[in-house]
Amino acid sequence: IHPTAARRGNPIVVQSDLTSYTNDHIVSKFTNRNADVAVVEGQYIVTPTTKEYEFQTARKVAKTGLMMVGWGGNNGSTLSATILANRHNIIWRTKGGVQQPNYIGSLLRASTVRLGSDPATGKDIHVPISDVLPMVHPNDLVLGGWDISGARLDEAMKRAQVLDYDLQRQVAPHMAELGAPLPSIYYPDFIAANQEARADNVVPGTDKQAHLEHLRADIRRFKEQNGLDRVIVFWTANTERYSEIIRGVNDTADNLLAAIKSSHPEVSPSTLFAVAAILEGEPFVNGAPQNTFVPGAIQLAELKHSFIGGDDLKSGQTKLKSVFAEFLVNAGIKPLSIASYNHLGNNDGHNLSAEPQFKSKEISKSSVVDDMVAANPLLFEPAQPGAPKGSKAAKGEHPDHIVVIKYVPAVGDSKRAIDEYYSEIFCGGRSTINIFNECEDSLLATPLILDLAILAELLTRIKYRDASAGSKAEFAPLYPILSLLSYMLKAPLVKPGTDVVNSLNRQRNALETFLKACIGLEGSSDLLLETRIW
Ligand code: NAD
Repeated sequence: IHPTAARRGNPIVVQSDLTSYTNDHIVSKFTNRNADVAVVEGQYIVTPTTKEYEFQTARKVAKTGLMMVGWGGNNGSTLSATILANRHNIIWRTKGGVQQPNYIGSLLRASTVRLGSDPATGKDIHVPISDVLPMVHPNDLVLGGWDISGARLDEAMKRAQVLDYDLQRQVAPHMAELGAPLPSIYYPDFIAANQEARADNVVPGTDKQAHLEHLRADIRRFKEQNGLDRVIVFWTANTERYSEIIRGVNDTADNLLAAIKSSHPEVSPSTLFAVAAILEGEPFVNGAPQNTFVPGAIQLAELKHSFIGGDDLKSGQTKLKSVFAEFLVNAGIKPLSIASYNHLGNNDGHNLSAEPQFKSKEISKSSVVDDMVAANPLLFEPAQPGAPKGSKAAKGEHPDHIVVIKYVPAVGDSKRAIDEYYSEIFCGGRSTINIFNECEDSLLATPLILDLAILAELLTRIKYRDASAGSKAEFAPLYPILSLLSYMLKAPLVKPGTDVVNSLNRQRNALETFLKACIGLEGSSDLLLETRIW
């Protein structure tokens, strides 16, 4: 066994000339295989391509803080309480019996990847994803953040009504120790008017430049006070309305910074937080649907080489849709309409009952089938490039897709979703599939926040270089928009000019392939050739 790797306690040691270990790094060689395709007179001319890269992963996991914007909300308080329950191994009683804390629902901590097979038995060997590369353990995250509501964390947990009473009772003293969230930035125009009563913990004034500096100082102080190497800033606050994209205001990095200086009304709190994190060089993830990442914010992240990811946690209905729509289209079945209805009764639902905030959610929920539809021109007429702007032909054929959200306080955090998939099948037939889904919203969402924070930290430690023959490239950080986070996000932010992948399977595959590439292993192939040949 490789001595350096073994000494540092790696759960996986790869023995190959593609992988090397030093005290500080894991370095792997990777061949990126693709194909160039030209369509010439209806014929596809395909040229396979390969390009050599090296990945370098720093082995020392950063001491990481997670600063949540909206810390006192359902997600923020639930995440904090469940981490504390895990950290202190709090066991609680429910009417069903004794419950242990766990991280079920976290892709990293509760799902596995196939490493290979045992030559003696031929059986597959699977490992937790969190074992593939050194990653932060959720129990070690230092928690903090902001909220416009000044309720202490134990009170916030009680207000959320998510966790069992016996857990709340036991974890409350630990939650109280976390104290209250830091005062936050509140511009009433961006969230629903029905949230106003919560806003008793706000940074005074209307000067956005002063607000930006205030947030930057908060991040720096949190980092210093806790001796952190890295802080992930995570928006899990209320959904805001969309910001208007205005030329000269938020279209470029310079314009956005100038707009903040002049306290322009279209700069939202979430964009201000994103800019603060970007300028501090700390990753920012947007767990809500609004367009926090106006073009100027994206450009600023590029200029500062600061990592960003978003948008909107993909917890229930949309996650299933990104699997189900792909299943239909890949089975050669043509969805004609997808009608999604849901109701919920938590504070998120209350905020979304206002039209501009609902609009943000509707947009983020609506694009999820686009890439699957576009990938199958046999079923759906592709967009015609020369067709008149706004016409059906210019957009290409799509299933009718509608999303409805209603606020029903009685059901609290237990969201109910109904989806109807109405499809065309063989020779004019029709198929209707209805799915009814009832789930505890915040308990689905909080493991995603963990996964996003842990992956964002990991991705700051991975560098790559062009390793083609003759190349003298230095190791460089990844591109700032972390599209590898897409699995957990409803409307993944990707590098401008590249296609969004919504298919959950493809998103998982990309992540798995990337993590394995960083230790010099091939991505997962389900070919299983040895089972097909003599
Ligand atoms: P919540 O309403 O319980 O919590 C939001 C918190 O944000 C509140 O405590 C509120 O006081 C605070 N807040 C509002 N504006 C703020 C600001 N400017 N600065 C700091 N704090 C502010 O909502 P939740 O259920 O925790 O969801 C949080 C976000 O995550 C919402 O935008 C929601 O749409 C999104 N989301 C949730 C899920 C899910 O399944 N729970 C899924 C996808 C997306």
